[in-house]
Amino acid sequence: MHQITVNDLIVDVVRKDIKNLHLGVYPPTGRVRVAAPLQIDDESVRLAVIRRLAWIRRQQAKYHQQERQPGREYVSGESHYFQGHRYRLNVVYHDGPPNVTIRNKTTLDLIVRTGSDTAQREQVLLTWYRAQIKAIIPPLLAKWQPIIGVEVAEWGVKQMKTKWGTCNIEARRIWVNLELAKKSTRCLEYIIVHEMVHLLERHHNDRFIAYLNQFMPQWQFIRDELNKAPLGHTSWEY
Ligand SMILES: [Zn+2]
Repeated sequence: MHQITVNDLIVDVVRKDIKNLHLGVYPPTGRVRVAAPLQIDDESVRLAVIRRLAWIRRQQAKYHQQERQPGREYVSGESHYFQGHRYRLNVVYHDGPPNVTIRNKTTLDLIVRTGSDTAQREQVLLTWYRAQIKAIIPPLLAKWQPIIGVEVAEWGVKQMKTKWGTCNIEARRIWVNLELAKKSTRCLEYIIVHEMVHLLERHHNDRFIAYLNQFMPQWQFIRDELNKAPLGHTSWEY
């Protein structure tokens, strides 16, 4: 399998001994996959995708609607994820500094000030997520910079609606999505490697894929894990 990019759309392409080209959009994330006959080249695949772009976008929008989670209340009993594990939230109201602690394998204590509303409780959890993910990133950068042979000048964490990560190549600046705090650490690591590889190759072309295969041969499994987990958002790009 390899990938081509068509108007910002990442398309998985598989060549098979078949007669006709088959294009599919798959839940939950709206991943686009083309099974193409052996003799069809990438340019023809690209044209086939462009012809069906409107239909693809409609399918993706449909999955997007299905995947949306209802609004979070940040109350005891709700499920919240941290580093790939699912925890039951236990909200503790007290008159002191807010905090979050992992009580055990199943319970996350969210300690908030008495009278906190939903937005304030959410903020406490997000602040904690941010601190956790920010602590993990520097060692990951230190590990991968010599391997990939690039230097990241700046990095940060922010909430993004449709992207797991971004890379500003000129500034050598990487942003990762705060949402990754909820995913396993190897997902965060993959996104960081992916964005760092953009410092070698801007586009998601064969060269880019070859770098990923070289640095992180299991990247497709991690990508699938990233796109499968039930976390509400969909149609992710990175
Ligand atoms: Zn990318």
